[in-house]
Amino acid sequence: MGAAIQSSLLILQDRDMRVQRIEADLARLPSEREQTRKKISNYEASIEEGRQRIKELEVQSKAVETEMGEVEGQVLKYKNQQLQVKKNEEYQALTHEIENAQNKISELEEKELELLYELDDARKSQKAEELDLDEKIKAEKSFLGRLDEKEENLKQQIEEARADFAEAESGLERPMLSKYKQVARGIKYPIIVLLRDQKCGGCHMRVSAAVEFELKKGEEITTCDNCGRILYLQD
Ligand SMILES: [Zn+2]
Repeated sequence: MGAAIQSSLLILQDRDMRVQRIEADLARLPSEREQTRKKISNYEASIEEGRQRIKELEVQSKAVETEMGEVEGQVLKYKNQQLQVKKNEEYQALTHEIENAQNKISELEEKELELLYELDDARKSQKAEELDLDEKIKAEKSFLGRLDEKEENLKQQIEEARADFAEAESGLERPMLSKYKQVARGIKYPIIVLLRDQKCGGCHMRVSAAVEFELKKGEEITTCDNCGRILYLQD
C-alpha cells in the first residue's frame, strides 16, 4: 500500500486503540466501585462487631450485678430469719446458708471485676480501632468520589475519541476500511504492524518471501501469513 494509505491506516488504528482504552477504563469502573464499597462495608462491619462485643460485656456485667443484688437480699433474709428461729440447729443451718451466699458474693465480685477490666480494654482498643477504620473509610469514600470524576472525564474523552475515529474512518476508502475491520476482528491490537528483517511486528514470526515481495511492491494491503495482521514497511 502507498505511504498515504499507510499513514491513514496508522492514524485510524491509533484512534481506534484510544477509543478502546477509554472504553476499557469505563468498563472497569463498576467493579472498582464495587470493590471499594465492599471494603467500606467490611470496615463498617468491623466497627459494629467491636461495638457488639462491648455491648455483650455490658450485658454480662449487668447480669452479674443483678445476681449479686439477689444474693445480698437472700443474706438479709437469712439474717432476719435467724432473729426469729428458736432452735439452735435451725440457727446453724441459716449460718451455713449465709456463709454459702457470702462465698457466692465474693465469686460474683471477682467475676464482676474481671468483666470490668475486660470492658475497659475492649473500650480502649475499640476507640483506637475506630479511629483507624474511620480514616480508612474516609479514604475509600474519597476514592469513590475520584472514580465519579474519572467517569465524567472518560465520558468526555470517549465522545472526542469516537468523533476522531469516525473522522479517520471517513477519510478511508470502503475496501480499505472493511479490510481493516475484518483483520481487527479477533486479533489483539495493534493490527497494523511493522515488518522488520522479514519479521512481523505482531507475532514476531518470519513471513514468507512472497509476503515480503508483495509488501515491497506496495500495491495492496498485505497481511502476515502467520497472524493475519496488516504489515507495513519503514519509509
Ligand atoms: Zn504476524
